[in-house]
Amino acid sequence: MPHVVTQSCCSDAACVFTCPVNCIHPTPDEPDFATAEMLYIDPEACVDCGACVSACPVDAIKPHTKLAEGELDFLAINAGFYAAPRERPLLAPVLPTLRVRERPQALRVAIVGSGPAAMYAADELLTVPGAEVGVFERLPVPYGLARMGVAPDHRRTRQVSRQFDAIRAEEGLSLYLDVEVGTHVTHEELLARYHAVIYAVGASADRRLDVPGVELPGAASATEFVAWYNGHPDFADRTFDLSHRRAVVIGNGNVALDVARILTVDPEVLAGTDISPAALEVLRGSAVEEVVVVGRRGPERSAFTLPELVGLRSTPGVDVVVPAEDVRSGSGAKLDLLRDLPAEGACGRRVRLRYLLSPVRVLGSDHVEGVEFERNEPDGDGVRPTGRMETLETGLLLTSIGYRGRPVRDLPFDEASGTVPNEGGRVVDPGTGRAVPGTFVTGWIKRGPTGFIGTNKSCALETVRALVDDYNAGRLADPVRDTADLPGLTGRRRHGLTA
Ligand code: NAP
Repeated sequence: MPHVVTQSCCSDAACVFTCPVNCIHPTPDEPDFATAEMLYIDPEACVDCGACVSACPVDAIKPHTKLAEGELDFLAINAGFYAAPRERPLLAPVLPTLRVRERPQALRVAIVGSGPAAMYAADELLTVPGAEVGVFERLPVPYGLARMGVAPDHRRTRQVSRQFDAIRAEEGLSLYLDVEVGTHVTHEELLARYHAVIYAVGASADRRLDVPGVELPGAASATEFVAWYNGHPDFADRTFDLSHRRAVVIGNGNVALDVARILTVDPEVLAGTDISPAALEVLRGSAVEEVVVVGRRGPERSAFTLPELVGLRSTPGVDVVVPAEDVRSGSGAKLDLLRDLPAEGACGRRVRLRYLLSPVRVLGSDHVEGVEFERNEPDGDGVRPTGRMETLETGLLLTSIGYRGRPVRDLPFDEASGTVPNEGGRVVDPGTGRAVPGTFVTGWIKRGPTGFIGTNKSCALETVRALVDDYNAGRLADPVRDTADLPGLTGRRRHGLTA
C-alpha cells in the first residue's frame, strides 16, 4: 500500500484535489464527507506520486514504509474504508472559482473571530481581485481553537497555524487583535465600513451537566481545563486540584480523550510543546494515576474518533484499558480496536474507558468526593436505565459533554442548538424568515460544534459563495466610510475612551 492518511488528518481536503487518480475519499461533494472521521486513501488506486503529502497542512499523509509502530493501524483503517466498492469520477469535482461582478467599490468584508472558520473564509474572499478583509479577534493572539483548543502534544495538528500565518500575510487582510466586536466596535459601525460582516465566533461556552453537586469545588468542565493548559488568557487564574489518584471525565468525545491523555502522559513529553508553562508545572506535581472516561451509551456509540483512539493507545507510558464485559457485544472498527485493549494496565498510569453509565449526582460536602452513576442497558441507538447504581470515587471531575455557542449581540439565536439561525451562512431572522442584510455566519456558530479543523474550509466556502452572490446581485449596501479610522477608534475604546 503506497500512501496512508494518519491521525492528524484535519479533513480540509486539500489532498483530494491534488490526487491525479481521485483515490482520497470522501471528497467534499460526497454525502459522507460531513460525518467521516478522517479521509482515507484507497490502497488499490494510489499511484504513490506523493502529491497529497505536500498538500497536507498537518503532515497527516505518509508512505506506508514511514509509518511509526503506533500508526500501523492506519493501514487497515484506510483500506477498510474501501471494503465496499465506491463509484467515483476520474477526478474529484472542483468548485468553480468565485465570479465577482465588477462594481465601483471592491468587495470589503469584516470577519469576527480569527479561528479556522474565519481564516478559511478570509482566504477564499481574498481570491477576489481587490478584495479587503478585516479580521477582528477578541484575544491578543489569533487562530481561536487551532491554538487554544488543540492539545499541545498534537504538534502536527497545531502546524495548521502555519497555513493561517500565510493567509494572514496575504495582501488585503488586516488583523485587529484585542478588539471585541460589540464592545470596541459595533455591528453597525462595521457595516458602515464593509459590505458584509461574517461571524466566525465558534462555540465558546460548554454544555453544562445538570446533576446535583456539579458546582462543588473539584468539578469543572473539560473545555476550561483545555483552555487552561493551552494558556488562554481568560483561564490563566483557574486552578485544578490534581492531588487525587483518580480523575473522572464524563462524556467520551475527542476532548475527553485529550484531557485524559494530558492528565496521564509523562509531563516531560509535554515540555517543549506550546503548553502553558504554569500548567506544565502543576502537571509535574500531579498525583493523578488513573483517568476514567465515562460514556452513557455503549462502546459502538463512543463519541471519540478511531484515529484519536489509535493515537491514545500509543501514548508512551500510558495504558488504555476497558472492562471486557463492556465491549463483549456489537461490531465495527472501533469495537475491534476496543476489544484489543487489556482490562488492566501495567504502566502505572492509565486511561480507563467505561460505558453505559449515566451520571446521577456528584458526591461530597465541600469538595468532590465521587460521582454516582446509574447503569444503563443498550436500547437501539439510546439506552434504558436499570436502576442499578455505581459510585466512582474521585477528587477531580471534568465534564466533557460538548461545546455550545453563545448568543451574539445584534443577531438572532437558536437556544436549542446554540447556533445563529442561517441558510447556507446567510443569517435569517426567524421572526420574518428574511435574511438579515449583510450578515453571515460560518464555523461552529453556524452549524454547531462538530467536525475537525479542516471541516471549516468547506463550511466557509459555502458562506463566502452566499455572500458573493449577494454582492453580485446588489443586495449588499456599499460601505459609506473607509476603514482607516478603525485602529484609532478601537484603540481608544479599548482604553476606556468613548469616542
Ligand atoms: P462530542 O464529540 O460531541 O462528545 C460529547 C460527549 O458527551 C458524548 O460522549 C456524549 O454522549 C456526552 N454527553 C452529552 N450530554 C451528556 C449528558 N447529559 N450526560 C452524559 N454524557 C453526555 O464533544 P467534544 O468531545 O467536545 O468534541 C467537539 C468536536 O470537536 C467534535 O467534533 C470533535 O471531534 C472535535 N474535536 C476533535 C479533536 C481531534 O480531532 N483531535 C479534538 C477535540 C475536539 P452521547 O454520544 O451519548 O450524546
